[in-house]
Amino acid sequence: MSRVYNFSAGPSMLPEDVLKTAAAEMLEYGTSGQSVMEMSHRSKEYQAIFDEAEANLREVMNIPDNYTVLFLQGGASTQFAMVPMNLMNKNHKADYVVTGQWAKKAYKEAARYGNARVIASSEDKTFSYIPEITPDMIDPEADYVHICMNNTIYGTKWTKLPETGNVPLVADISSCILSEPIDVSKFGVLYAGAQKNVAPAGLTIVIIRNDLIGNAMDITPTMLNYQTHSENGSMFNTPPCYTIYVAGLVFKWIKEMGGLDYMKKINTEKAAMLYDFLDNSKLFKGTVVPADRSLMNVPFVTGDDELDAKFVKQSKEAGFVNLKGHRSVGGMRASIYNAMPVEGVKKLVEFMKKFEEENT
Ligand SMILES: *Cc1c(COP(=O)(O)O)cnc(C)c1O
Repeated sequence: MSRVYNFSAGPSMLPEDVLKTAAAEMLEYGTSGQSVMEMSHRSKEYQAIFDEAEANLREVMNIPDNYTVLFLQGGASTQFAMVPMNLMNKNHKADYVVTGQWAKKAYKEAARYGNARVIASSEDKTFSYIPEITPDMIDPEADYVHICMNNTIYGTKWTKLPETGNVPLVADISSCILSEPIDVSKFGVLYAGAQKNVAPAGLTIVIIRNDLIGNAMDITPTMLNYQTHSENGSMFNTPPCYTIYVAGLVFKWIKEMGGLDYMKKINTEKAAMLYDFLDNSKLFKGTVVPADRSLMNVPFVTGDDELDAKFVKQSKEAGFVNLKGHRSVGGMRASIYNAMPVEGVKKLVEFMKKFEEENT
């Protein structure tokens, strides 16, 4: 068996230790005589798996007691509708910062349910930076302000949160959840699809301040009401049981590695290796302003489409897969989530150096 270094933006690599544990427990979990896949979600065994996963997530992210954790389905994209349906119900207004395609999709969806307003955008420069937000740009009557914390496609991240005063801040953290410490108390709602940095696809994590639950619009489908899920411990209907189990293994793995401070240290080290190389390369260059660079998604180009294609092809042959950039940016993108070992980035940089020597 030879595993590749997978730089996919999502679904993406999982820690090898987690995959090995899941494999070892595949046929029989503990002494249950069954796989987690086969368990009733109402069983005592499964409830223990679920509770441990939630407890470890709370511990790792330091989630305050006045926040509820929900394990849902539908992906981050369903949150684009759930957030307005549940929160945009006081003044029917919400402010959005458009820093990429996901942020734009979130805005467009919200505009279907109320008065969504774009207060800033970085589309003028292909989303290569994070716009400055000053408090006067925010409508104090808005029901919330929405940002996309890490822009998976463009490789930017918010390093300083906008000051929103009493207006709840809502953030899509799909591609940066668990990559570094985050002060949950600064947010009204955090949400993330699990398939980038947590687990296989199929699970959406929502962390919501309790006072924001229970205000949904009348038209909200039962399944899209946060209250439905908070009142039923995320088990109003069948949750994505197996994916929650794998997420639980990942939370435990992070805890054992040293928590989010350790993840930040390693992720910073990995990202710095790539950015330092890009900054000194004669062939490759990063596409994002240095101050707003993501720790997780690193887009880069040669400036020559044919050379980009040659790089993607040769890197794949060398065991570095999924480096082709998003179609809207072109070039390449290396997604280096928690599960990407330091060794993988080191070897990629060596490969890029060699490619540069051969092609300049
Ligand atoms: C991948 C991604 C999404 C879409 O996630 P789904 O779970 O596929 O709906 C939304 N936002 C961000 C930031 C993403 O990276």
